[in-house]
Amino acid sequence: MDQIVNKNLLKVTCASSDDAIAVLNPATDEILTYIPSVPTAEINGLIEKSKQAQLLWQERTAAERCAILRKWYDLVIENSDDLARIMTLEQGKPLAEAKGEVLYGASFIQWFAEEGKRTYGETIPTPASGKRLMTIKQPVGVAAAITPWNFPIAMITRKAAPALAAGCSFIVKPANQTPLSAYAMAELAYEAGLPKDLLIVLNNHSSVAVGDIFCQNDDIKKLSFTGSTQVGSHLIKQCADTIKRTSMELGGNAPFIVFEDADIEEAVKGAIASKFRNAGQTCVCANRFYVQNAVYDEFVEKLAKAVAELKVGNGLEAGVNIGPLIDMKAKNSVMGYINEAVEQGAKIISGGRSLEGLFVEPTILADVTQEMEIVQTELFGPIAPVIRFENDVELVEKANDTIYGLASYFYTGNLHRAFNIAEKLEYGMVGINEGIISNEVAPFGGVKQSGFGREGAKQGIDEYLNVKYLCFGGF
Ligand code: NAP
Repeated sequence: MDQIVNKNLLKVTCASSDDAIAVLNPATDEILTYIPSVPTAEINGLIEKSKQAQLLWQERTAAERCAILRKWYDLVIENSDDLARIMTLEQGKPLAEAKGEVLYGASFIQWFAEEGKRTYGETIPTPASGKRLMTIKQPVGVAAAITPWNFPIAMITRKAAPALAAGCSFIVKPANQTPLSAYAMAELAYEAGLPKDLLIVLNNHSSVAVGDIFCQNDDIKKLSFTGSTQVGSHLIKQCADTIKRTSMELGGNAPFIVFEDADIEEAVKGAIASKFRNAGQTCVCANRFYVQNAVYDEFVEKLAKAVAELKVGNGLEAGVNIGPLIDMKAKNSVMGYINEAVEQGAKIISGGRSLEGLFVEPTILADVTQEMEIVQTELFGPIAPVIRFENDVELVEKANDTIYGLASYFYTGNLHRAFNIAEKLEYGMVGINEGIISNEVAPFGGVKQSGFGREGAKQGIDEYLNVKYLCFGGF
């Protein structure tokens, strides 16, 4: 951690002890540092503090809240090099990607700082004389979040920024594997003037215990979760007891489709960006490729050429495109998918080998068929299975044949086909001739078992607001 210039960002770190949680560098397997595990018995007390802080915060004007969030944004930008290094050290992604995530994460703070000023209500034409009707929007109260390790900053700011801008307090449990980025971001928020109890970050050895408390505590009025569909489903059930509002950003199985009328060079560029970013550990990344028969061989050949240029290694080294996977369980699972697909008849076009430590070669598998497990599951690794298709009807059926509905992508030069396919794909987001689609101004989220709720955009702040209807009589 010597490379970090602003030591304030690492204030949370502590010495090794029975209670401490070790944070590892997945590129080297070394322990970077330790963070405290907040005792389970103290978590309800922290929620009470958060509740008290929220009552004061909701009285502040949107302009006052905006000023603090803007300052937070400025400090994140000022510290972006340190934040990126912390992220690469604990998560493994290449430094340039980590810097990209810091800026992407910061963009949500900037956007929602302003959106907080625009949480308009409505006046409604009355159906009965003598009455005047209107709505106002009010913060839900204490908002809690549980976030994953693959985007340690952005998955937090996409929730914290709209919650705070709306007048909520925010309490988050980041993944135990990548907590340092979250604590560093919180330090900058406090420096910007945010009261400490308004933004609480906590970790505990048992994520299950934290989840139980978040779901059961009635003072938490909203739970926003990003992670696997399995855990999301469990949390929804648990939240039923307190009728808690939830947002769920869950798993994906994105199809990446290349039609015969596509610009193949562009499709290959989009495929590389979508598939291999973060070593394929991205909920929206291309998970399976469908390529029309006439251009199948050309696409596979050009993709293989582009993949051969990707450099695998420690994300801190210059020129590295693909870092390590997050842990050995993830690596074993990825290697298992490759081996199983090969046993079932898939052909390795490039890569396919397990490298030392947590590294895996970027891999292209051809002759993959719809029935193979590799097509049905979220891979979370640098593997590109490529499937043939003949026509649009067959393609739509195959692309929608999954429990997931987060992101999808297709390449075509035909405008009619573009509209037709975009409307038929059962996904919350569709990239058309584009492999990177997410930003702060557009609504991010899924359908089917990829979840519900939207992050970013004008919709993102509504997740943290209640609509109240006022009926004035006696006119
Ligand atoms: P995960 O196992 O569901 O974990 C996500 C978070 O939930 C972590 O903080 C984890 O804590 C915590 N957790 C695990 N079990 C829990 C439980 N029973 N109760 C309460 N909390 C619990 O998912 P992951 O493997 O970290 O992340 C990858 C998944 O996230 C993929 O499926 C990916 O598609 C999805 N994801 C979705 C989006 C989206 O926007 N839709 C974005 C990014 C990732 P610990 O890690 O500390 O144990």
